[in-house]
Amino acid sequence: MQPEFDVIVVGAGPAGAASALTLARKGFNVIMLEKAKIPGERNVTGGVLYGDFSGKYGLIDLLPEFEAEAPVERKVVSHEVYVVSNARDNKYRYYKMNRGSAAVRMGIFSIPPEGGHDYTVLRRGFDRWFALKAVEAGAMLSTSTTVEGLLKEGNAVVGVRTPQGDINSKVVIDCSGVTSPLVEEAGLREHLGPSQLYHGVKHVLKLDEETVNSRFGVKKGEGKAMALLGEFMDGISGGAFIYTNRDTISIGMVVSMNSMLKKITTDFTDTGKLLDVLERLEGNPLVAELIDGSEMLEYSAHNIPKSYKCVLKRPYADGFLVAGDALGSFVKIGSMIDGMRRAIASGMMAAEAFIGASASGSYGAGSLAGYMDILKPIYRDVARSGRDSFVSESSLAYSLFPKLVLATGLTSKEGDVKVMKPIDQRDAIQRIQDGTSLLNYDEDKDYAHIKVNAEGCSRALDKPWVPACPVNCYTILTSKGVFASFKDLYIYNLRKLESDAGAKGGNEKNFRYRALLQSRKDVALAGLRFDWVACVECGTCGAIGPKDMVDFHSEKNGHGVRYKFG
Ligand SMILES: Cc1cc2nc3c(=O)[nH]c(=O)nc-3n(C[C@H](O)[C@H](O)[C@H](O)COP(=O)(O)OP(=O)(O)OC[C@H]3O[C@@H](n4cnc5c(N)ncnc54)[C@H](O)[C@@H]3O)c2cc1C
Ligand code: SF4
Repeated sequence: MQPEFDVIVVGAGPAGAASALTLARKGFNVIMLEKAKIPGERNVTGGVLYGDFSGKYGLIDLLPEFEAEAPVERKVVSHEVYVVSNARDNKYRYYKMNRGSAAVRMGIFSIPPEGGHDYTVLRRGFDRWFALKAVEAGAMLSTSTTVEGLLKEGNAVVGVRTPQGDINSKVVIDCSGVTSPLVEEAGLREHLGPSQLYHGVKHVLKLDEETVNSRFGVKKGEGKAMALLGEFMDGISGGAFIYTNRDTISIGMVVSMNSMLKKITTDFTDTGKLLDVLERLEGNPLVAELIDGSEMLEYSAHNIPKSYKCVLKRPYADGFLVAGDALGSFVKIGSMIDGMRRAIASGMMAAEAFIGASASGSYGAGSLAGYMDILKPIYRDVARSGRDSFVSESSLAYSLFPKLVLATGLTSKEGDVKVMKPIDQRDAIQRIQDGTSLLNYDEDKDYAHIKVNAEGCSRALDKPWVPACPVNCYTILTSKGVFASFKDLYIYNLRKLESDAGAKGGNEKNFRYRALLQSRKDVALAGLRFDWVACVECGTCGAIGPKDMVDFHSEKNGHGVRYKFG
Protein backbone atom coordinates (compact mmCIF):
# COMPACT_ATOMS: atom_id res chain seq x y z
CA MET A 1 0.00 0.00 0.00
CA GLN A 2 1.22 3.53 -0.81
CA PRO A 3 1.84 5.42 2.49
CA GLU A 4 -0.46 8.41 2.97
CA PHE A 5 2.30 10.38 4.72
CA ASP A 6 6.08 10.48 4.72
CA VAL A 7 6.01 10.83 8.50
CA ILE A 8 3.43 10.54 11.26
CA VAL A 9 4.51 12.45 14.37
CA VAL A 10 2.71 11.19 17.48
CA GLY A 11 2.13 14.05 19.93
CA ALA A 12 2.23 17.82 19.38
CA GLY A 13 4.31 18.73 22.44
CA PRO A 14 7.73 20.40 22.06
CA ALA A 15 9.37 17.28 20.58
CA GLY A 16 6.54 16.68 18.11
CA ALA A 17 6.22 20.29 16.97
CA ALA A 18 10.01 20.62 16.48
CA SER A 19 10.11 17.40 14.47
CA ALA A 20 7.12 18.25 12.28
CA LEU A 21 8.35 21.81 11.67
CA THR A 22 11.80 20.58 10.58
CA LEU A 23 10.27 18.03 8.20
CA ALA A 24 7.62 20.36 6.77
CA ARG A 25 10.25 22.98 5.95
CA LYS A 26 12.07 20.38 3.87
CA GLY A 27 8.87 19.68 1.96
CA PHE A 28 7.95 16.33 3.50
CA ASN A 29 4.34 15.29 3.87
CA VAL A 30 4.01 15.16 7.67
CA ILE A 31 1.07 14.92 10.06
CA MET A 32 1.02 15.45 13.84
CA LEU A 33 -1.53 13.38 15.73
CA GLU A 34 -2.41 14.87 19.10
CA LYS A 35 -4.79 13.34 21.62
CA ALA A 36 -5.80 16.69 23.15
CA LYS A 37 -8.32 19.06 21.61
CA ILE A 38 -5.72 21.83 21.63
CA PRO A 39 -1.96 21.11 21.69
CA GLY A 40 -0.62 21.79 25.17
CA GLU A 41 -3.87 21.61 27.13
CA ARG A 42 -2.98 18.19 28.59
CA ASN A 43 0.68 19.06 29.25
CA VAL A 44 2.49 20.23 32.37
CA THR A 45 5.89 21.76 32.91
CA GLY A 46 7.66 23.83 35.59
CA GLY A 47 8.65 25.58 33.32
CA VAL A 48 11.88 27.29 32.38
CA LEU A 49 12.45 26.84 28.69
CA TYR A 50 16.13 27.07 27.85
CA GLY A 51 16.18 28.53 24.35
CA ASP A 52 19.56 27.27 23.22
CA PHE A 53 21.16 23.86 22.79
CA SER A 54 24.52 22.73 21.49
CA GLY A 55 25.03 22.05 17.78
CA LYS A 56 22.31 24.40 16.55
CA TYR A 57 19.50 22.26 17.91
CA GLY A 58 18.07 25.01 20.12
CA LEU A 59 14.70 26.67 19.73
CA ILE A 60 16.60 29.87 18.94
CA ASP A 61 18.10 28.11 15.91
CA LEU A 62 14.82 26.59 14.77
CA LEU A 63 12.74 29.72 15.30
CA PRO A 64 15.02 32.76 15.79
CA GLU A 65 11.89 34.91 16.12
CA PHE A 66 10.61 32.94 19.12
CA GLU A 67 11.72 35.52 21.69
CA ALA A 68 9.55 38.18 20.06
CA GLU A 69 6.65 35.98 18.95
CA ALA A 70 6.12 33.07 21.31
CA PRO A 71 3.73 33.44 24.24
CA VAL A 72 6.60 33.35 26.74
CA GLU A 73 6.01 34.77 30.22
CA ARG A 74 9.27 36.38 31.39
CA LYS A 75 12.94 36.28 30.40
CA VAL A 76 14.86 34.53 33.18
CA VAL A 77 17.64 36.84 34.36
CA SER A 78 18.52 35.01 37.55
CA HIS A 79 18.70 31.37 38.70
CA GLU A 80 18.92 30.96 42.47
CA VAL A 81 19.00 27.98 44.86
CA TYR A 82 17.72 28.22 48.44
CA VAL A 83 18.02 25.79 51.31
CA VAL A 84 15.41 26.72 53.92
CA SER A 85 14.52 25.61 57.42
CA ASN A 86 11.07 25.46 58.96
CA ALA A 87 10.02 28.30 61.26
CA ARG A 88 10.97 28.13 64.95
CA ASP A 89 10.32 30.89 67.52
CA ASN A 90 9.25 33.25 64.75
CA LYS A 91 12.61 32.81 62.97
CA TYR A 92 13.85 30.67 60.13
CA ARG A 93 17.21 30.05 58.52
CA TYR A 94 18.11 30.01 54.86
CA TYR A 95 21.14 29.53 52.68
CA LYS A 96 21.20 31.12 49.26
CA MET A 97 23.51 29.58 46.68
CA ASN A 98 24.95 31.13 43.60
CA ARG A 99 27.57 29.90 41.22
CA GLY A 100 30.37 31.00 43.54
CA SER A 101 29.07 28.98 46.52
CA ALA A 102 31.24 26.16 47.85
CA ALA A 103 28.51 23.53 47.26
CA VAL A 104 28.30 24.54 43.63
CA ARG A 105 32.06 24.60 43.19
CA MET A 106 32.31 21.17 44.83
CA GLY A 107 29.72 19.86 42.36
CA ILE A 108 27.06 19.06 44.98
CA PHE A 109 24.69 21.37 43.13
CA SER A 110 24.78 22.92 39.73
CA ILE A 111 23.06 26.17 38.94
CA PRO A 112 22.12 26.77 35.32
CA PRO A 113 24.08 29.55 33.65
CA GLU A 114 21.93 32.44 32.43
CA GLY A 115 22.07 31.54 28.74
CA GLY A 116 20.43 34.70 27.47
CA HIS A 117 17.53 32.83 25.84
CA ASP A 118 15.80 31.33 28.89
CA TYR A 119 12.12 32.07 29.41
CA THR A 120 9.32 30.97 31.71
CA VAL A 121 6.42 29.43 29.80
CA LEU A 122 2.97 27.97 30.44
CA ARG A 123 2.25 25.03 28.21
CA ARG A 124 -1.26 25.67 26.99
CA GLY A 125 -0.18 28.83 25.20
CA PHE A 126 3.33 27.79 24.25
CA ASP A 127 2.58 24.36 22.75
CA ARG A 128 -0.31 25.72 20.70
CA TRP A 129 1.91 28.45 19.27
CA PHE A 130 4.69 25.99 18.50
CA ALA A 131 2.41 23.43 16.83
CA LEU A 132 0.88 26.20 14.69
CA LYS A 133 4.39 27.15 13.54
CA ALA A 134 4.71 23.61 12.17
CA VAL A 135 1.29 23.95 10.52
CA GLU A 136 2.30 27.28 8.91
CA ALA A 137 5.34 25.49 7.50
CA GLY A 138 3.07 22.89 5.86
CA ALA A 139 2.59 20.14 8.47
CA MET A 140 -0.88 18.79 9.11
CA LEU A 141 -2.28 18.64 12.63
CA SER A 142 -5.07 16.31 13.69
CA THR A 143 -6.20 16.98 17.26
CA SER A 144 -8.52 14.83 19.42
CA THR A 145 -6.70 11.90 17.81
CA THR A 146 -5.30 9.34 20.22
CA VAL A 147 -2.79 6.92 18.77
CA GLU A 148 -3.74 3.54 20.18
CA GLY A 149 -1.03 1.40 18.66
CA LEU A 150 1.36 0.78 15.79
CA LEU A 151 0.50 -0.67 12.40
CA LYS A 152 3.07 -3.24 11.41
CA GLU A 153 4.02 -5.27 8.38
CA GLY A 154 6.22 -8.02 9.75
CA ASN A 155 8.58 -6.18 12.08
CA ALA A 156 8.35 -2.88 10.25
CA VAL A 157 6.19 -0.03 11.57
CA VAL A 158 4.06 1.26 8.68
CA GLY A 159 1.65 3.56 10.49
CA VAL A 160 -0.61 3.91 13.52
CA ARG A 161 -4.04 2.88 14.77
CA THR A 162 -6.41 5.58 15.99
CA PRO A 163 -10.10 5.48 17.00
CA GLN A 164 -10.81 7.31 13.71
CA GLY A 165 -9.03 4.62 11.65
CA ASP A 166 -5.58 3.47 10.55
CA ILE A 167 -3.07 5.88 9.02
CA ASN A 168 -0.04 4.78 6.97
CA SER A 169 3.35 6.41 6.69
CA LYS A 170 6.95 5.65 5.76
CA VAL A 171 8.11 6.43 9.31
CA VAL A 172 6.41 7.08 12.65
CA ILE A 173 8.22 9.48 15.03
CA ASP A 174 6.99 8.87 18.56
CA CYS A 175 6.92 12.15 20.54
CA SER A 176 4.09 11.11 22.85
CA GLY A 177 5.90 11.75 26.11
CA VAL A 178 6.73 9.76 29.19
CA THR A 179 3.65 7.51 29.11
CA SER A 180 4.32 6.26 25.56
CA PRO A 181 3.21 2.65 25.13
CA LEU A 182 4.51 2.73 21.54
CA VAL A 183 8.14 2.28 22.57
CA GLU A 184 7.09 -0.92 24.35
CA GLU A 185 5.10 -2.10 21.34
CA ALA A 186 8.12 -1.45 19.11
CA GLY A 187 10.19 -3.61 21.47
CA LEU A 188 12.55 -0.80 22.46
CA ARG A 189 11.85 -0.74 26.21
CA GLU A 190 10.02 -2.60 28.94
CA HIS A 191 7.18 -1.00 30.88
CA LEU A 192 8.55 1.86 33.06
CA GLY A 193 8.51 1.37 36.84
CA PRO A 194 8.73 3.85 39.75
CA SER A 195 12.53 3.68 39.97
CA GLN A 196 12.70 5.09 36.42
CA LEU A 197 10.43 8.08 36.98
CA TYR A 198 10.17 11.46 38.62
CA HIS A 199 6.77 12.70 39.73
CA GLY A 200 5.84 16.37 39.68
CA VAL A 201 3.02 18.49 41.10
CA LYS A 202 2.46 22.19 40.58
CA HIS A 203 0.26 25.12 41.51
CA VAL A 204 -0.23 28.19 39.37
CA LEU A 205 -0.94 31.15 41.64
CA LYS A 206 -2.37 34.52 40.61
CA LEU A 207 -0.28 37.52 41.66
CA ASP A 208 -0.47 40.83 39.82
CA GLU A 209 2.44 41.88 37.63
CA GLU A 210 3.64 44.76 39.79
CA THR A 211 3.66 42.57 42.89
CA VAL A 212 5.68 39.89 41.10
CA ASN A 213 8.20 42.55 40.04
CA SER A 214 8.61 44.04 43.50
CA ARG A 215 8.61 40.83 45.54
CA PHE A 216 11.07 39.03 43.31
CA GLY A 217 13.18 42.13 42.66
CA VAL A 218 12.85 42.02 38.88
CA LYS A 219 11.95 44.58 36.23
CA LYS A 220 8.96 44.32 33.88
CA GLY A 221 9.45 41.35 31.56
CA GLU A 222 12.28 39.92 33.66
CA GLY A 223 11.91 36.71 35.62
CA LYS A 224 13.51 34.67 38.34
CA ALA A 225 13.92 30.91 38.63
CA MET A 226 14.26 29.67 42.21
CA ALA A 227 15.08 26.11 43.23
CA LEU A 228 14.44 25.15 46.86
CA LEU A 229 15.14 22.28 49.18
CA GLY A 230 15.09 21.77 52.90
CA GLU A 231 13.08 20.40 55.79
CA PHE A 232 9.75 20.88 54.00
CA MET A 233 10.67 17.91 51.74
CA ASP A 234 10.37 15.54 54.76
CA GLY A 235 13.30 13.49 53.47
CA ILE A 236 11.87 12.83 49.99
CA SER A 237 14.55 12.93 47.29
CA GLY A 238 13.87 15.86 45.00
CA GLY A 239 13.37 19.58 45.08
CA ALA A 240 10.97 22.42 44.56
CA PHE A 241 10.81 25.33 42.16
CA ILE A 242 9.28 28.80 42.00
CA TYR A 243 9.18 30.44 38.60
CA THR A 244 7.84 33.91 37.92
CA ASN A 245 5.37 34.30 35.08
CA ARG A 246 3.96 37.64 33.92
CA ASP A 247 1.12 37.82 36.45
CA THR A 248 1.22 34.33 37.93
CA ILE A 249 3.68 32.17 39.83
CA SER A 250 4.45 28.53 39.04
CA ILE A 251 5.33 26.71 42.25
CA GLY A 252 5.86 22.97 42.42
CA MET A 253 8.21 20.09 42.91
CA VAL A 254 9.85 17.22 41.10
CA VAL A 255 10.71 14.14 43.18
CA SER A 256 12.01 10.62 42.67
CA MET A 257 8.89 8.46 42.51
CA ASN A 258 10.48 5.64 44.50
CA SER A 259 11.46 7.93 47.33
CA MET A 260 7.97 9.47 47.38
CA LEU A 261 6.30 6.04 47.44
CA LYS A 262 8.44 4.88 50.34
CA LYS A 263 7.48 7.92 52.40
CA ILE A 264 3.74 7.92 51.71
CA THR A 265 3.23 4.17 52.11
CA THR A 266 5.42 3.42 55.13
CA ASP A 267 6.39 6.57 57.01
CA PHE A 268 3.31 8.72 56.41
CA THR A 269 2.89 10.50 59.76
CA ASP A 270 3.82 13.91 58.27
CA THR A 271 3.42 13.37 54.54
CA GLY A 272 0.43 11.52 53.14
CA LYS A 273 0.49 12.95 49.62
CA LEU A 274 3.03 14.94 47.61
CA LEU A 275 0.54 17.82 47.86
CA ASP A 276 1.33 17.96 51.61
CA VAL A 277 4.94 18.79 50.73
CA LEU A 278 3.87 21.45 48.25
CA GLU A 279 1.56 23.04 50.83
CA ARG A 280 4.32 22.91 53.45
CA LEU A 281 6.58 24.72 50.99
CA GLU A 282 3.90 27.36 50.43
CA GLY A 283 3.66 27.83 54.18
CA ASN A 284 7.42 28.17 54.62
CA PRO A 285 8.14 31.74 55.79
CA LEU A 286 10.54 32.53 52.94
CA VAL A 287 7.98 31.40 50.38
CA ALA A 288 4.83 32.57 52.18
CA GLU A 289 6.16 36.12 52.03
CA LEU A 290 6.63 35.89 48.26
CA ILE A 291 3.19 34.46 47.50
CA ASP A 292 1.17 36.20 50.20
CA GLY A 293 -2.30 37.16 49.00
CA SER A 294 -2.10 35.04 45.85
CA GLU A 295 -5.00 32.98 44.56
CA MET A 296 -4.69 29.38 43.40
CA LEU A 297 -5.61 29.11 39.72
CA GLU A 298 -4.51 25.58 38.87
CA TYR A 299 -3.29 22.32 40.39
CA SER A 300 -1.56 19.89 38.04
CA ALA A 301 0.57 16.75 38.08
CA HIS A 302 2.70 14.81 35.61
CA ASN A 303 5.53 12.32 35.45
CA ILE A 304 8.93 12.78 33.83
CA PRO A 305 11.43 10.10 32.82
CA LYS A 306 14.44 9.54 35.06
CA SER A 307 16.36 9.29 31.82
CA TYR A 308 19.62 7.94 33.21
CA LYS A 309 17.58 4.90 34.25
CA CYS A 310 15.41 4.53 31.17
CA VAL A 311 16.82 6.29 28.09
CA LEU A 312 16.34 4.07 25.04
CA LYS A 313 19.53 2.25 24.20
CA ARG A 314 18.25 1.92 20.66
CA PRO A 315 15.92 4.82 19.76
CA TYR A 316 14.88 3.44 16.36
CA ALA A 317 13.35 0.37 14.73
CA ASP A 318 12.17 -0.40 11.20
CA GLY A 319 10.04 2.62 10.26
CA PHE A 320 10.15 4.04 13.78
CA LEU A 321 12.02 6.81 15.66
CA VAL A 322 11.53 8.15 19.19
CA ALA A 323 12.16 11.67 20.58
CA GLY A 324 11.57 13.76 23.72
CA ASP A 325 10.40 12.30 27.02
CA ALA A 326 9.37 9.08 25.20
CA LEU A 327 13.06 8.63 24.31
CA GLY A 328 14.25 9.70 27.76
CA SER A 329 15.90 12.99 26.82
CA PHE A 330 14.93 14.85 30.03
CA VAL A 331 17.70 15.60 32.51
CA LYS A 332 17.80 16.91 36.03
CA ILE A 333 21.25 18.12 36.92
CA GLY A 334 21.50 19.72 40.34
CA SER A 335 18.75 22.32 40.48
CA MET A 336 18.26 22.35 36.71
CA ILE A 337 15.03 20.72 35.51
CA ASP A 338 15.63 20.52 31.81
CA GLY A 339 13.31 18.67 29.46
CA MET A 340 11.69 21.00 26.95
CA ARG A 341 14.81 22.09 25.09
CA ARG A 342 15.98 18.47 24.94
CA ALA A 343 12.59 17.44 23.61
CA ILE A 344 12.92 20.14 20.94
CA ALA A 345 16.52 19.15 20.13
CA SER A 346 15.76 15.44 19.88
CA GLY A 347 12.64 16.17 17.78
CA MET A 348 14.82 18.08 15.33
CA MET A 349 17.39 15.28 15.42
CA ALA A 350 14.78 12.59 14.66
CA ALA A 351 13.62 14.66 11.69
CA GLU A 352 17.23 14.87 10.54
CA ALA A 353 17.59 11.09 10.84
CA PHE A 354 14.51 10.64 8.65
CA ILE A 355 15.84 13.15 6.12
CA GLY A 356 19.13 11.24 6.02
CA ALA A 357 17.33 7.94 5.39
CA SER A 358 15.10 9.47 2.72
CA ALA A 359 18.16 9.95 0.50
CA SER A 360 18.39 6.16 0.22
CA GLY A 361 14.61 5.66 -0.02
CA SER A 362 14.82 2.97 2.66
CA TYR A 363 13.41 3.37 6.14
CA GLY A 364 14.54 0.15 7.77
CA ALA A 365 16.41 0.18 11.07
CA GLY A 366 19.75 0.14 9.21
CA SER A 367 18.89 3.37 7.39
CA LEU A 368 17.63 5.10 10.53
CA ALA A 369 20.57 4.00 12.70
CA GLY A 370 22.36 7.31 11.98
CA TYR A 371 20.01 8.76 14.62
CA MET A 372 22.29 7.34 17.35
CA ASP A 373 25.15 9.51 16.15
CA ILE A 374 23.03 12.64 15.88
CA LEU A 375 21.75 12.05 19.42
CA LYS A 376 25.24 12.02 20.98
CA PRO A 377 24.82 15.35 22.86
CA ILE A 378 21.57 14.05 24.39
CA TYR A 379 23.17 10.78 25.54
CA ARG A 380 26.18 12.72 26.88
CA ASP A 381 23.95 14.87 29.11
CA VAL A 382 21.82 11.92 30.25
CA ALA A 383 25.02 10.16 31.35
CA ARG A 384 26.08 13.34 33.16
CA SER A 385 22.73 13.51 34.99
CA GLY A 386 23.30 9.90 36.11
CA ARG A 387 26.69 10.82 37.57
CA ASP A 388 25.22 13.95 39.16
CA SER A 389 22.43 11.89 40.75
CA PHE A 390 25.00 10.05 42.92
CA VAL A 391 25.32 13.30 44.82
CA SER A 392 22.19 15.37 44.13
CA GLU A 393 19.76 12.47 44.69
CA SER A 394 21.61 11.00 47.64
CA SER A 395 20.57 11.60 51.23
CA LEU A 396 23.73 13.72 51.51
CA ALA A 397 22.15 16.36 49.25
CA TYR A 398 18.49 16.32 50.23
CA SER A 399 18.79 15.52 53.93
CA LEU A 400 22.27 15.94 55.42
CA PHE A 401 23.41 18.94 53.37
CA PRO A 402 20.46 21.17 54.43
CA LYS A 403 21.08 20.23 58.07
CA LEU A 404 24.78 21.09 57.77
CA VAL A 405 24.45 24.45 56.03
CA LEU A 406 21.54 25.60 58.19
CA ALA A 407 23.23 24.65 61.44
CA THR A 408 25.64 27.57 61.51
CA GLY A 409 25.56 31.29 60.92
CA LEU A 410 28.77 30.92 58.88
CA THR A 411 26.81 29.54 55.95
CA SER A 412 23.17 30.43 56.57
CA LYS A 413 21.28 33.60 57.49
CA GLU A 414 18.40 34.14 59.84
CA GLY A 415 15.08 35.61 58.70
CA ASP A 416 12.11 36.92 60.67
CA VAL A 417 8.80 35.23 60.02
CA LYS A 418 6.76 38.05 58.48
CA VAL A 419 3.83 36.08 57.07
CA MET A 420 2.23 33.15 58.84
CA LYS A 421 0.34 30.66 56.71
CA PRO A 422 -1.42 28.15 58.93
CA ILE A 423 -1.34 24.52 57.81
CA ASP A 424 -4.67 23.48 56.30
CA GLN A 425 -5.98 20.83 58.70
CA ARG A 426 -8.59 19.38 56.33
CA ASP A 427 -8.09 15.88 54.96
CA ALA A 428 -6.61 15.16 51.53
CA ILE A 429 -10.02 14.50 50.01
CA GLN A 430 -11.20 18.02 50.81
CA ARG A 431 -7.92 19.77 49.99
CA ILE A 432 -7.47 18.06 46.65
CA GLN A 433 -11.09 18.78 45.82
CA ASP A 434 -10.09 22.50 46.00
CA GLY A 435 -7.58 21.82 43.21
CA THR A 436 -9.61 19.53 40.96
CA SER A 437 -12.67 21.78 41.19
CA LEU A 438 -10.61 24.43 39.37
CA LEU A 439 -9.86 22.06 36.48
CA ASN A 440 -11.90 21.66 33.31
CA TYR A 441 -12.57 18.12 32.19
CA ASP A 442 -14.14 16.80 29.05
CA GLU A 443 -15.42 13.71 30.74
CA ASP A 444 -15.81 10.43 28.87
CA LYS A 445 -18.72 8.67 30.52
CA ASP A 446 -18.46 5.61 28.28
CA TYR A 447 -14.77 4.72 28.31
CA ALA A 448 -12.51 4.12 31.30
CA HIS A 449 -8.98 4.68 29.98
CA ILE A 450 -7.53 2.98 33.08
CA LYS A 451 -8.71 -0.52 33.92
CA VAL A 452 -8.15 -1.42 37.56
CA ASN A 453 -8.28 -4.88 39.05
CA ALA A 454 -9.79 -3.53 42.28
CA GLU A 455 -9.91 -6.96 43.92
CA GLY A 456 -6.24 -7.64 43.16
CA CYS A 457 -5.19 -4.13 44.24
CA SER A 458 -7.18 -4.54 47.48
CA ARG A 459 -5.05 -7.57 48.33
CA ALA A 460 -1.83 -5.47 48.14
CA LEU A 461 -0.66 -4.68 51.67
CA ASP A 462 0.64 -1.17 50.96
CA LYS A 463 -1.82 -0.03 48.22
CA PRO A 464 0.60 2.56 46.79
CA TRP A 465 -1.88 3.73 44.11
CA VAL A 466 -3.98 5.45 46.77
CA PRO A 467 -1.54 8.00 48.23
CA ALA A 468 0.37 8.32 44.94
CA CYS A 469 -2.58 9.46 42.83
CA PRO A 470 -2.38 13.27 42.90
CA VAL A 471 -6.13 13.70 42.38
CA ASN A 472 -7.65 10.96 44.56
CA CYS A 473 -8.92 8.64 41.83
CA TYR A 474 -7.92 5.86 44.25
CA THR A 475 -9.27 5.70 47.80
CA ILE A 476 -9.46 3.05 50.50
CA LEU A 477 -12.64 2.07 52.21
CA THR A 478 -12.39 1.07 55.87
CA SER A 479 -14.86 0.81 58.75
CA LYS A 480 -13.35 4.17 59.85
CA GLY A 481 -14.28 5.91 56.62
CA VAL A 482 -12.93 6.63 53.13
CA PHE A 483 -9.33 7.83 52.91
CA ALA A 484 -7.15 9.10 50.07
CA SER A 485 -4.06 9.54 52.24
CA PHE A 486 -2.71 7.16 54.87
CA LYS A 487 -1.69 10.18 56.96
CA ASP A 488 -5.38 11.03 57.38
CA LEU A 489 -6.03 7.49 58.60
CA TYR A 490 -3.07 7.81 60.97
CA ILE A 491 -4.46 11.07 62.39
CA TYR A 492 -7.84 9.38 62.86
CA ASN A 493 -6.20 6.48 64.74
CA LEU A 494 -4.01 8.81 66.81
CA ARG A 495 -7.00 10.92 67.92
CA LYS A 496 -8.95 7.76 68.76
CA LEU A 497 -6.08 6.40 70.90
CA GLU A 498 -5.74 9.74 72.69
CA SER A 499 -9.45 10.09 73.34
CA ASP A 500 -9.73 6.46 74.49
CA ALA A 501 -6.92 7.09 76.98
CA GLY A 502 -8.84 10.21 78.08
CA ALA A 503 -8.15 11.44 81.55
CA LYS A 504 -5.79 8.54 82.19
CA GLY A 505 -3.18 10.36 80.11
CA GLY A 506 -0.49 8.41 78.31
CA ASN A 507 2.77 8.54 76.48
CA GLU A 508 2.46 10.66 73.32
CA LYS A 509 5.37 8.88 71.60
CA ASN A 510 3.81 5.52 72.30
CA PHE A 511 0.44 6.69 70.92
CA ARG A 512 2.09 7.81 67.71
CA TYR A 513 3.87 4.50 67.27
CA ARG A 514 0.69 2.52 67.93
CA ALA A 515 -1.35 4.73 65.60
CA LEU A 516 1.19 4.16 62.82
CA LEU A 517 1.11 0.37 63.29
CA GLN A 518 -2.70 0.38 63.43
CA SER A 519 -2.87 2.47 60.24
CA ARG A 520 -0.56 0.10 58.36
CA LYS A 521 -2.82 -2.78 59.45
CA ASP A 522 -5.96 -0.89 58.37
CA VAL A 523 -4.41 -0.14 54.97
CA ALA A 524 -3.51 -3.80 54.45
CA LEU A 525 -7.09 -4.91 55.18
CA ALA A 526 -8.91 -2.08 53.38
CA GLY A 527 -10.74 -2.40 50.09
CA LEU A 528 -9.55 -0.21 47.20
CA ARG A 529 -11.91 1.92 45.13
CA PHE A 530 -11.19 3.58 41.79
CA ASP A 531 -12.99 6.33 39.91
CA TRP A 532 -11.27 7.82 36.84
CA VAL A 533 -13.34 11.00 36.57
CA ALA A 534 -10.72 13.38 38.04
CA CYS A 535 -7.72 11.67 36.36
CA VAL A 536 -5.10 14.07 35.00
CA GLU A 537 -3.25 11.24 33.20
CA CYS A 538 -0.02 11.75 35.09
CA GLY A 539 0.82 8.09 34.42
CA THR A 540 1.71 7.23 38.00
CA CYS A 541 -0.72 4.40 38.69
CA GLY A 542 0.23 2.76 35.39
CA ALA A 543 3.84 2.62 36.57
CA ILE A 544 3.14 1.16 40.01
CA GLY A 545 2.81 -2.56 40.43
CA PRO A 546 2.21 -5.27 37.88
CA LYS A 547 0.42 -4.39 34.62
CA ASP A 548 -2.40 -6.86 35.29
CA MET A 549 -3.41 -4.71 38.30
CA VAL A 550 -3.61 -1.34 36.54
CA ASP A 551 -3.81 -1.22 32.75
CA PHE A 552 -3.15 2.38 31.69
CA HIS A 553 -4.20 3.86 28.32
CA SER A 554 -4.67 7.37 26.97
CA GLU A 555 -8.09 8.95 26.92
CA LYS A 556 -9.74 9.10 23.51
CA ASN A 557 -11.05 11.83 21.21
CA GLY A 558 -9.85 14.81 23.23
CA HIS A 559 -11.51 13.66 26.45
CA GLY A 560 -9.83 14.25 29.79
CA VAL A 561 -8.35 17.19 31.66
CA ARG A 562 -7.98 20.55 29.91
CA TYR A 563 -5.44 22.70 31.75
CA LYS A 564 -5.76 26.48 31.41
CA PHE A 565 -2.04 27.01 32.14
CA GLY A 566 -0.09 23.71 32.22
C1 LIG B 1 6.31 19.39 37.35
C2 LIG B 1 7.21 19.46 36.14
C3 LIG B 1 8.17 20.46 36.06
C4 LIG B 1 8.99 20.53 34.94
N1 LIG B 1 9.83 21.60 34.82
C5 LIG B 1 10.54 21.77 33.69
C6 LIG B 1 11.27 22.98 33.46
O1 LIG B 1 11.25 23.91 34.27
N2 LIG B 1 11.99 23.08 32.32
C7 LIG B 1 12.00 22.09 31.38
O2 LIG B 1 12.65 22.27 30.34
N3 LIG B 1 11.32 20.95 31.56
C8 LIG B 1 10.57 20.77 32.67
N4 LIG B 1 9.80 19.65 32.83
C9 LIG B 1 9.91 18.57 31.84
C10 LIG B 1 9.24 18.90 30.51
O3 LIG B 1 7.94 19.37 30.74
C11 LIG B 1 9.22 17.66 29.61
O4 LIG B 1 10.51 17.13 29.54
C12 LIG B 1 8.73 18.02 28.21
O5 LIG B 1 7.41 18.45 28.25
C13 LIG B 1 8.83 16.83 27.26
O6 LIG B 1 8.31 17.18 26.01
P1 LIG B 1 7.76 16.07 25.01
O7 LIG B 1 7.34 16.80 23.78
O8 LIG B 1 8.73 14.98 24.87
O9 LIG B 1 6.51 15.41 25.75
P2 LIG B 1 5.15 16.07 26.25
O10 LIG B 1 5.35 17.49 26.60
O11 LIG B 1 4.64 15.16 27.29
O12 LIG B 1 4.22 16.01 24.97
C14 LIG B 1 3.68 14.80 24.51
C15 LIG B 1 2.47 15.11 23.65
O13 LIG B 1 1.95 13.89 23.12
C16 LIG B 1 0.55 13.84 23.30
N5 LIG B 1 0.20 12.42 23.39
C17 LIG B 1 0.52 11.55 24.37
N6 LIG B 1 0.08 10.32 24.09
C18 LIG B 1 -0.54 10.41 22.89
C19 LIG B 1 -1.21 9.47 22.07
N7 LIG B 1 -1.30 8.18 22.41
N8 LIG B 1 -1.75 9.90 20.91
C20 LIG B 1 -1.64 11.21 20.53
N9 LIG B 1 -1.03 12.15 21.28
C21 LIG B 1 -0.47 11.74 22.43
C22 LIG B 1 0.33 14.62 24.60
O14 LIG B 1 -0.99 15.10 24.71
C23 LIG B 1 1.34 15.74 24.45
O15 LIG B 1 0.82 16.84 23.74
C24 LIG B 1 8.93 19.55 33.92
C25 LIG B 1 7.98 18.54 34.01
C26 LIG B 1 7.12 18.50 35.10
C27 LIG B 1 6.08 17.42 35.15
S1 SF4 C 1 -5.62 7.77 38.05
FE1 SF4 C 1 -3.47 7.26 37.67
S2 SF4 C 1 -2.91 8.41 35.84
FE2 SF4 C 1 -4.81 9.29 36.64
S3 SF4 C 1 -4.15 10.97 37.93
FE3 SF4 C 1 -4.36 9.18 39.27
S4 SF4 C 1 -2.33 8.26 39.31
FE4 SF4 C 1 -2.36 9.70 37.61
